[in-house]
Amino acid sequence: MMINSSTELYGIFGHPVKHSFSPAMHNAAFKELGINSVYLAFDILPEILEYAVGSIRHLGIKGINVTIPHKQNIMKYLDEISPEARHAGAVNTVKNTGGYLYGHNTDVGGFLKALEADLKLKDFTGRSVLLIGAGGAARAVLSALCISGAKSITIFNRSVDKAAAVSQYFCEQFKNICIEYYKLGDSDKLTECLGKSDILINSSSAGMLGYESIDIPIQYLKKNSRVYDLIYNPRETELVKSARLFRHEASNGLSMLLYQGVESFEIWTGEKAPVDSMLKALIKE
Ligand code: NAP
Repeated sequence: MMINSSTELYGIFGHPVKHSFSPAMHNAAFKELGINSVYLAFDILPEILEYAVGSIRHLGIKGINVTIPHKQNIMKYLDEISPEARHAGAVNTVKNTGGYLYGHNTDVGGFLKALEADLKLKDFTGRSVLLIGAGGAARAVLSALCISGAKSITIFNRSVDKAAAVSQYFCEQFKNICIEYYKLGDSDKLTECLGKSDILINSSSAGMLGYESIDIPIQYLKKNSRVYDLIYNPRETELVKSARLFRHEASNGLSMLLYQGVESFEIWTGEKAPVDSMLKALIKE
């Protein structure tokens, strides 16, 4: 790739961010389409997020993905938020048009496409879901599940106050869906909910490269339930491994990464994303 004075800059803001496969995926897409752009990973501490958002405007960065732990906090620094992102209460994609910053959420659509592709799950009507995590990614998952007709969602999170806040946010929007929350350490409740759940989803950072895994007593998960772990690095998390051991269909988060990336790319460039090249780059990472 030729980098010159016309090269445009894209990237991802996160902390930590070194685990991310997004640079490989988006640079492969730029190369495939002959777009003179480059995508980099920026390790942004929470206390400098406001300045980092200022740099998008001042340096003319064309587009940014947002990952842990900034998906909620970035919203207050943007000029406009899409209805999907407002609905989820989280932004993972920012488009810069002449200094005007528009926040989107492509995790919602990415999650739904990934569950259909990997676990053949399209219709959530009547399903009971156990969701681990209450951060930015959990908000996208909750939004997707609520609009797709889930019957009940039980959230388990390390910090119970965050679980309470996220639960209240969605309960207010979806009064007919039963949304409950518990502390992740409440093992009796966790065991009880596993026995009633059709789908188990990990949207927390636990199990990601450099993070400890959480001990889920998967032997209590309802028979024929499916397991989705948003984490894609490592490729086979402890959760996915143990789910497969107990004969549950299980998938990591690689397809979600692909589909949210495809949507971000199309928002930024207005071009049809080269999905095969993006997937190839992800598989090579
Ligand atoms: P976030 O907003 O920072 O939230 C992190 C969540 O993980 C919180 O619920 C946090 O609990 C929990 N957590 C962190 N460390 C933990 C630990 N050791 N034990 C138990 N819980 C822990 O981050 P995020 O944006 O939601 O991202 C979460 C994960 O999803 C990351 O691994 C990210 O890479 C992945 N993700 C993947 C995709 C994809 O496309 N596949 C998309 C989005 C996100 P507390 O509230 O107690 O801090």
